[in-house]
Amino acid sequence: MNNYYPPEPFRIKSIETVKMTTLEERKKIIEEAGYNTFLIDSKDVYIDLLTDSGTNAMSDKQWAGIMMGDEAYAGSTNFRHLEKTVQDLFGYKYLVPTHQGRGAENILSRIAIKQGQYVPGNMYFTTTRYHQEANGGIFFDIIRDEAHDATLSIPFKGDIDLSKLEKLIHDKGAENIAYVCLAVTVNLAGGQAVSMKNMRQVRELTLTHGIKVFYDATRCVENAYFIKEQEDGYSDKTIEEILLEMFSYSDGATMSGKKDGIVNIGGFLALNDEDLFTEAKELVVVFEGMPSYGGMTGRDMEAFAIGLKESVQFEYIQHRILQVRYLGDKLIAAGVPIVEPVGGHAVFLDARRFCPHLDQEEFPAQSLAANLYVESGVRTMERGIVSAGRDKSTKINHKPKLETVRITIPRRVYTYRHMDVVADAVINLHNNKHTIKGLKFVYEPKQLRFFTARFEEID
Ligand SMILES: *Cc1c(COP(=O)(O)O)cnc(C)c1O
Repeated sequence: MNNYYPPEPFRIKSIETVKMTTLEERKKIIEEAGYNTFLIDSKDVYIDLLTDSGTNAMSDKQWAGIMMGDEAYAGSTNFRHLEKTVQDLFGYKYLVPTHQGRGAENILSRIAIKQGQYVPGNMYFTTTRYHQEANGGIFFDIIRDEAHDATLSIPFKGDIDLSKLEKLIHDKGAENIAYVCLAVTVNLAGGQAVSMKNMRQVRELTLTHGIKVFYDATRCVENAYFIKEQEDGYSDKTIEEILLEMFSYSDGATMSGKKDGIVNIGGFLALNDEDLFTEAKELVVVFEGMPSYGGMTGRDMEAFAIGLKESVQFEYIQHRILQVRYLGDKLIAAGVPIVEPVGGHAVFLDARRFCPHLDQEEFPAQSLAANLYVESGVRTMERGIVSAGRDKSTKINHKPKLETVRITIPRRVYTYRHMDVVADAVINLHNNKHTIKGLKFVYEPKQLRFFTARFEEID
């Protein structure tokens, strides 16, 4: 790996003004938001690193595409463009557009999971697991053990542990496994990549048992960059060649266009199997819209198609990944505990080591995110025990090993100088970490509680 940080491969034509608040104002704002950064108004945020989802800056060409929206109810020209783009870049036969990633997860879970079947995956994702469980599936984590260890800096921490998958097939029987859900990259593990070798091996193993493999392709371009950078035999391949090989080891994929699609809204389910495609089309009309728009406007689909083509350009994705690494490298140099190696879309603070004085049930990552906002006006989010939720049957809190704050970088939005401001704020807070207090729930939603929960400080 290198410590080369390429300059922005773009120039700025349109800007948005941001405003700094005072410390006193932010103290009041976080209290009113129930110590949940999701509940802060955007106008009160200085640098917004809550998520890389839908927060991307579109290019001049994408904005031009917006003007080419064909808003016909059926058979939009923009749908054909998106369909062709996904076929070309991903290699799948059929496209079912959805309003965003979770719309695709809903449809896939409904058509591919039978009551009581297992859905093994390389770590869970919040909305993905919700839809799997809501449709009778049992999520089963088969990511390699190393992924749960924040301190271990090794490549391809997102890989599936083949022995865990083999054991599950052996113990439960292939007929009791709905499909393997393989995420590239693994968001909650820290944006960790999956190697091509692992994808190939998962394919070989599942084929012998007749088990299908569906990818969560949300950050597939970032994953492809890591393969090019770090896996033997891929440095001379293009991002496009790597993507096509990745998807050749799967039966289909769900994707949130709001991430690597470089748009503000959109998603899809892509499939190779004609029968599944027919079923998916029957459901998309119920939940999303006609199979030729699926909840997106024509102009959304046009911007998405153009965004996908831009996302595979080497200069774009190299800058993207290395800008994130720049922030991570600064924090590591200052002794701040983060999840290593730095992943594709975000730097994850390791709240266990950042706040060793807090118990996990006192929500250290939630509190750290709240305190970082007060310190600097920088908004981040919790990815730990609050996000993990409670077990559906026992109602006991899932207690993930990774208790993190995600500092997520939107695509093409912020500069290296913004990264410096963020790094300084985190380093300052780290020097005063003993001031961070634990939190307790005052309102706990039943589902996906992290979005709307409210807390107060424990004294
Ligand atoms: C964001 C995300 C989703 C869900 O997509 P939405 O567009 O937010 O509905 C699914 N999987 C992963 C890994 C994600 O990051």
